[in-house]
Amino acid sequence: MPTRHVVCNMSQIFESSQTTHVSPTLAVVTVIISRDRYLSPVRVQCLHWADETTAGSTLDCTQATLRARTLTFLARIGQFPRALYTINMTNEFRPALIVVDVQEDFCPPNGSLAVPEGRDIVAPINKLLDLPFVLKVATKDWHPQDHISFAANHAGKQPFVDFATIVNPDNAAESYSSRLWPVHCVQGTPGAELLPELEADKLDEILEKGTDRRVEMYSPFYDPFGISDSGLAGLLRAHAVTDVYVVGLAGDYCVKACAEDAAKEGFRTYLIEECTRAVDAGAWPLCRKALEEGSRARVVSLEGPEVLRLSSPSLMTAAPAQSR
Ligand SMILES: [Zn+2]
Repeated sequence: MPTRHVVCNMSQIFESSQTTHVSPTLAVVTVIISRDRYLSPVRVQCLHWADETTAGSTLDCTQATLRARTLTFLARIGQFPRALYTINMTNEFRPALIVVDVQEDFCPPNGSLAVPEGRDIVAPINKLLDLPFVLKVATKDWHPQDHISFAANHAGKQPFVDFATIVNPDNAAESYSSRLWPVHCVQGTPGAELLPELEADKLDEILEKGTDRRVEMYSPFYDPFGISDSGLAGLLRAHAVTDVYVVGLAGDYCVKACAEDAAKEGFRTYLIEECTRAVDAGAWPLCRKALEEGSRARVVSLEGPEVLRLSSPSLMTAAPAQSR
């Protein structure tokens, strides 16, 4: 006989008890919490998880990642209050900042996949971190050593110039060709660290992406097949976010993909141009055009009204009341 447990907010899951049973019939999640440090690793026993591959297995992740993933999961099984998922796009302004992959391997002088001038964006991003965003999230590219995007894992292939076919692990008929890269942002290595000059203490969450060796994941939301979902969309909705501001590295890959998916998820989306740099800097104008023509995301300036309005906290609106 399953227990019925209505989940009202995130803290109830992760801060008030060590074990939570979520039911009606198909879901039981047992969460073992490490209380000492929010970003310290936790171990979760997944009896039924949102994606079939982890059901019945044990998952190691940070508590921040776990919280985001569980929110997505709860939303899927209809256990999360509907009110938090209803966004009134017309008269609310609850902005979030997503800082994409500002990591050593993407920056000079030592990054294995250094984006030209990549380090120059940190100073303006730190200024943005002082603004009253309702949620500030950073993402980290966080690959296993055998990740499919590394040229070194494909015999005879060279980084930057060669491509590989990536096949949907769940549907062999679905595939696409993807550019190959030098080994970068391997989990736990110095190259995967956020830049030390980034004021990370001002962040609310740090999410890891690209952790599934079988798929490339430019977007911090999910990979192109939907195999690997970071939980970012659920996290934004849980904070009743209406507007998403995207910055980070690299403009022509992960930042562009982030903006496209944020817009696709229904958020008003802005990519702040001074706070990104591209792998192929010369092609950025074309890339920018493709982003604005192919999605509802807009490329804006630090000096533009979309960013300036963030300095007027009176424009912010409160989160909608929870329905239960
Ligand atoms: Zn990567």
